[in-house]
Amino acid sequence: MDTRILDRFRAIVGGDGLLTEPEQLRTYECDGLTNFRVLPSAVVLPTSTEQVQAVVRVCHEARIPFVARGSGTGLSGGALPIEHGIVISLTRMNRILEVDISNARVVVEPGVLNLSVTQAVWPHYFYAPDPSSQQVCSIGGNVAENSGGAHCLKYGFTTTHVLGLEVVLPDGSLVHLGGPTLDRPGYDLCGVFVGSEGTLGIATKVILRVVRRPALIQTLLAAFHSTNEAGAAVSGIIAAGVLPAAIEMMDNLAIRAAEAAVHPNYPDCGGLLLVELDGPAAEVAALMVQVRAICTSCGAWEIRLAQSEEERAAVWKGRKAAFAAMGRISPNYIVQDGVIPRTALPEVMSEIERLSGQAGLRVANVFHAGDGNLHPLVLYDARIEGQEGRAERLAFSILELCVKAGGSITGEHGVGEEKKAFMPVMFAEPDLDTMQRVRCAFDPERLSNPTKVFPRPRLCAEKTGPYQPHPLETAGIAQLF
Ligand SMILES: Cc1cc2nc3c(=O)[nH]c(=O)nc-3n(C[C@H](O)[C@H](O)[C@H](O)COP(=O)(O)OP(=O)(O)OC[C@H]3O[C@@H](n4cnc5c(N)ncnc54)[C@H](O)[C@@H]3O)c2cc1C
Repeated sequence: MDTRILDRFRAIVGGDGLLTEPEQLRTYECDGLTNFRVLPSAVVLPTSTEQVQAVVRVCHEARIPFVARGSGTGLSGGALPIEHGIVISLTRMNRILEVDISNARVVVEPGVLNLSVTQAVWPHYFYAPDPSSQQVCSIGGNVAENSGGAHCLKYGFTTTHVLGLEVVLPDGSLVHLGGPTLDRPGYDLCGVFVGSEGTLGIATKVILRVVRRPALIQTLLAAFHSTNEAGAAVSGIIAAGVLPAAIEMMDNLAIRAAEAAVHPNYPDCGGLLLVELDGPAAEVAALMVQVRAICTSCGAWEIRLAQSEEERAAVWKGRKAAFAAMGRISPNYIVQDGVIPRTALPEVMSEIERLSGQAGLRVANVFHAGDGNLHPLVLYDARIEGQEGRAERLAFSILELCVKAGGSITGEHGVGEEKKAFMPVMFAEPDLDTMQRVRCAFDPERLSNPTKVFPRPRLCAEKTGPYQPHPLETAGIAQLF
């Protein structure tokens, strides 16, 4: 990168806020999807909104593409750098700016970790969206991915909990979307920004809604012979009108990996359900009787109710550690993230098993069963020639299966780099074009995470129709489209 540009960045963020050495840049060459890697030209670490604005203004003037990065735990390549572009890392903007309990809201900088928000308002309140990565992922990343978690079944995804945003647009100007209260006139641009995967600008401040802690929280663990039996119990619980705070399912391979990693003392069974109920004590007690009865009628051969906060934490530890635990049983794995209608669970699970046998690769299954969000984990050994390619093909076949079943290519991990080719499987050209026109309104020069989410670029001021190549493509990033 031109040294004059680097000097301008250095003048804004100081010498220790700019990384240019290849060994420093390696840390930023990928996110949690490690099979895609691009070395950025530089990494800038601002500490304030003003610094973000100044850095983005330089990028805008020099037409340098940039990628915002939180903790880099994304699983779809969203924070993957763009060739000839820079990474703007928000980790140093990690202050909780305001805790306003009377109005149940908290104002944070984007680098604040998800779990820190709950810690700031506990024990009377909590921040409901709880990705399994909550100890390390940032609120900025959560906003950009519209992240979910076990408790989003009852409480809703990130979008339900973001009241307002301060955003640096890709030309360096500052806007406020949404605000401190829910009902605001005009377009819901805060809603548009949440889930936009870094393509509309950089969130520099986030106003979050926190939720009153329920009077009683109870967690039940039920062991079944198979995921089909466990799936029938999930359908039964929802059909009975019970809305648990969370229903999570794990298959035997996932249970064994979690046991090896964090010893949650799960029964060795074909399908495990964790059902959490919360609310007024009398209501939780009555509904738990119903849930137990449904699990038993569907074949549960062991049912345990966590008797203390420690037991409850242990039950959740196994589930939350499930992805990372795969390292115990396989050198490499791909986490897939697809959605299916709950009712399609038995057929989809059988088909995943068939595809897994056909590919000669094991697939472990962990899912947010209540909302049909599957996380098949395709296990492979990259040292064995051809296995990585087979694993990628299997992961994509599973996605196709989800779409055919009436579901979606992503439940919570986003499209990013990984799934952009799949967007036309879900959306017609006019649908994609409408989304891109929104993108153009925020980022006419296509500088903010430009190659992600959409299979092909589109420029501002184009009419609906065939896509036009962007000048950046001729500058060497075309192969990424
Ligand atoms: C073990 C493990 C478990 C996980 N479990 C879950 C889960 O249960 N649910 C779930 O939803 N996800 C889960 N994830 C995925 C990941 O943690 C989430 O997507 C998370 O929101 C990413 O946050 P991050 O700070 O790491 O963002 P990054 O990976 O750094 O970035 C993600 C995206 O956000 C953009 N971005 C980051 N900060 C900003 C900002 N300030 N303004 C604009 N755009 C920005 C980036 O450009 C990128 O497109 C898991 C990941 C791992 C590794």
